Amino acid sequence: MRKIKQTHQAVYAPIDDLITYRALPLPALEFLDPFLFLNHHGPQHYKPGNNGLPFGPHPHRGFETLTLILNGEITHKDSSGGESTIYAGGIQWMTAGSGLIHSEVSSEEFKENGGLEEVIQIWLNLPSKLKMTEPEYTGLQKEEIPKVVLDNGRVSVDVISGQWGQTQGAIDPPTHISMFTIKGKEGAKWEVEVPTAHNILFYVVNGKVKVNGLEAETHHLVEFAHEGEKLQIEALTEVTLVFGHGAPFNEPIVAHGPFVMNTQEEIRQAIRDYQSGKMGEWN
Ligand code: MN
Repeated sequence: MRKIKQTHQAVYAPIDDLITYRALPLPALEFLDPFLFLNHHGPQHYKPGNNGLPFGPHPHRGFETLTLILNGEITHKDSSGGESTIYAGGIQWMTAGSGLIHSEVSSEEFKENGGLEEVIQIWLNLPSKLKMTEPEYTGLQKEEIPKVVLDNGRVSVDVISGQWGQTQGAIDPPTHISMFTIKGKEGAKWEVEVPTAHNILFYVVNGKVKVNGLEAETHHLVEFAHEGEKLQIEALTEVTLVFGHGAPFNEPIVAHGPFVMNTQEEIRQAIRDYQSGKMGEWN
């Protein structure tokens, strides 16, 4: 059984009027190499005639973003030509690589009609050799993501990347990182094995679970030790989890706003490249 170090409560860190809980980084947990950042926005009801999500055009370099749309929708647009509106149950996977500018906003329809919005954004680091890889964006709707059903239908796993059993994920990222969303009904039980060397991202979006004997509830992140492989999970209520794992890169991490590189000089270069238009133009 995988040993657990401790659980961490996400901190409340609203962005303008958007309800946001940040589960990474935390005062007691800077990152979980290669997992850098996790923001949980909402659930939040937007009234008709709202301004939508506050993420207008901004750059990124040196990592990947994974956005899980749990409720509502997000319209992504970027300077490399990527554009799509993804609805509840879908995902957006963006390899920022050498750099681009993107916006993550609400559609005209959502702003006009309002609705329920809940999204999670995770930043996945890229190793030094991939930081300047070509930018890429993939938006997938709910029905484009392979699902695995466990425990007589009481557990449903969205296989976003990597593999679960024989099921290959929708995305094949250059880092081979594995990402899943898992929904369990009350009383559901399941197991999963993770290589001991991998770091695990285990975040309770809502509900309450028991994992290897320890309870964790809404807005909590479980930090695992590098000992043992098996996770035995029980849903104590209906539950939604974000679950991922990946081999750590064990490289220096220098993060500055929207850029995550290995050195200060690379950060200075990123700022120069953004300012001189090398990450694209925004029209
Ligand atoms: Mn962004």
